[in-house]
Amino acid sequence: MEARGWALSEEFIARVKEKLEAQRREAEAELQRLREFMQGEVDVDAEEGDPDLFEREKVAALIATQERRLEAVDRALKAIEAGVYGICERCRQPIAPERLEARPEAVLCIACQQEVERLARRNLTPPPTRW
Ligand SMILES: [Zn+2]
Repeated sequence: MEARGWALSEEFIARVKEKLEAQRREAEAELQRLREFMQGEVDVDAEEGDPDLFEREKVAALIATQERRLEAVDRALKAIEAGVYGICERCRQPIAPERLEARPEAVLCIACQQEVERLARRNLTPPPTRW
C-alpha cells in the first residue's frame, strides 16, 4: 500500500479536481473574451493618442491575472496527477484542507504563501521550490 503521508480522501481530491476544471474553463473563456477585445480595438488616431489606452491597460492587467490563475490551476491539476496535491511546494508540509476547500488552486500552505507575498512585496525572488 502506498503511504502518501497526508490524509486527503479520494473523494476530496475528486471534488477539488472538478472545481479546478471548472475554474480552468472559466479562466479560458475569460481570456478569450479579453484577447478578442484587445484585438478589436486597434483604431488609434496618432494625433489624438489612444482614447482607449486606459481601458486597454486595464484589460491587459486582467489578461495577466487570468493567465496567472490558469497557470495556478494547471499546476494544481498536475499535482493531482502526480499524486502530490495538498502538499506545500515550498515546505512540503500538508496544506490545510480548509484552505484547499476555499482555494483549490493553492500549492502553498498559508505560512509559505504569506512568506512568498512578503518577499514579493520587497521585490525579492522567493527561494526555488525544493522538490
Ligand atoms: Zn509551506
